[in-house]
Amino acid sequence: MKIIDVRCHVLVDPDYDITSTSSSQDDIVVEIETDEGLIGVGEADVNPWIAKACIEAPGTHTMGLGIRDTLIGSDPRDVEGLWDRLYVGTAMNGRRGAVVHAYGAVDMALHDLRGKILGKPAWQLFQDVERTDLPHQTVPYASLQPEPGGFERYTQSMVDWALRAKKFGFTALKAEVTVNGPYAHQGMKEPYERAGEVLAAVREAVGPDFTLMCDVQYMFPDARTCLDVVEDWADLNLRFLETPLSFDDLDGYAEVAAHAPMPIAAGEFLATRFEFLDLMDRGRVSVVQPDMGRVGGLTEAVRVGTLAQARGLTVVPHVWKTGLSIAAAANFAAATPGCEFVEYLPAELSESPLRRQLFRNVPELVNGRLTPSDAPGLGVELDHDALAHFAAAASALYRGTGH
Ligand SMILES: [Mg+2]
Repeated sequence: MKIIDVRCHVLVDPDYDITSTSSSQDDIVVEIETDEGLIGVGEADVNPWIAKACIEAPGTHTMGLGIRDTLIGSDPRDVEGLWDRLYVGTAMNGRRGAVVHAYGAVDMALHDLRGKILGKPAWQLFQDVERTDLPHQTVPYASLQPEPGGFERYTQSMVDWALRAKKFGFTALKAEVTVNGPYAHQGMKEPYERAGEVLAAVREAVGPDFTLMCDVQYMFPDARTCLDVVEDWADLNLRFLETPLSFDDLDGYAEVAAHAPMPIAAGEFLATRFEFLDLMDRGRVSVVQPDMGRVGGLTEAVRVGTLAQARGLTVVPHVWKTGLSIAAAANFAAATPGCEFVEYLPAELSESPLRRQLFRNVPELVNGRLTPSDAPGLGVELDHDALAHFAAAASALYRGTGH
């Protein structure tokens, strides 16, 4: 059996808003087809035009091979072996960043495809983990963003979303509270302390037993400023504080991790287990957050999970794409005992049309848990009408740039 085609689809929500801090407004969907007509589907969380170029560019020498070139003619069942061949073969172009993110989509598609070929859910076929018969149970958390309209409205909308999530059946939620810093919501420039006011209102609303996390999206300029603020947050009982500092300030992370009154989480942007080793061993965080579509697919996420487990750390996959990434994360969690939570936004609570429309048979919240489908591969089904709709919007946008 061999791969005969690799198709890249660039998708955009026609109503995308460039001022929004949300990457679920675009997508790259990769389909990999075998000579027996089976198709695996994957996606990545990176600019889709860049990812498409990374996959389709022809190779010109042994240290700069093409991703698509490498896949055509290969046996799709050797998923982990293909990952290693791509990493070494594209070393001069890749090793980190967009090229690795792009083969995250390829790797996800290969896991879907291998499951379909062998008639099993993807998680039962991972090669780098100990096999289990039953899926590991993980707790999905709702990932919530506030709405614009000034600080009062911002706080109240977060409280309203939290109550909606609780009513929906969640037992955990993450509040995105970014009142300052490079990715501040709506260009806000509130004093850092005011993030604590929002969190206190949410904690009050959901009650003391609800699991509450917070994402400040790289808000603090340095470890000292961060610690001065968050040392007052002990009573909020946060399960973790996500990305308090710049992704590059690993020494700052180590300082915050050593003194903050809550666990520190990071890793959503990282590519490969090697970047995670730096985050764990130098940054000293206690919660690592590989994104299936950025770390380099399920293969590399599983390897990160194994390294984290060996250090006694918690793994919580970052998921902000479509139902396909949710299915991938559910499969990852099923095979990873160190995976305590998984980020999960039900279509009903999502603002993204891509999240709501692109895939069917997406795993759902049942009794506060998320379990992967029993169907072969990742278990979701691509809606080709939705694909065509978002692809047309992407073509129109690219033509509008003069290309
Ligand atoms: Mg985040």
